[in-house]
Amino acid sequence: MKVIVNQDACIGCGACTSICEEAFEIADNGLSTCKITGEIPTDLEQPVKDAMDSCPTGAIVLAEGEESEEPLAEAA
Ligand code: SF4
Repeated sequence: MKVIVNQDACIGCGACTSICEEAFEIADNGLSTCKITGEIPTDLEQPVKDAMDSCPTGAIVLAEGEESEEPLAEAA
């Protein structure tokens, strides 16, 4: 999976960096960015998901084009 931080939604609270500093950092503008631009390593997926769940504004989102973990239902 790949994630990005929606800069319009992030309030720079730092929760994500506290939970997973390997993946998130507060940039010079005071907002969080995801340091990992490609696939999140398997061992970081759970803390990244925890950070997503803990973000008060829902700013951490799956990167565009990322496929859902649920297979799409086939049209009948
Ligand atoms: S937890 Fe959400 S609002 Fe807080 S710094 Fe991280 S991305 Fe921004």
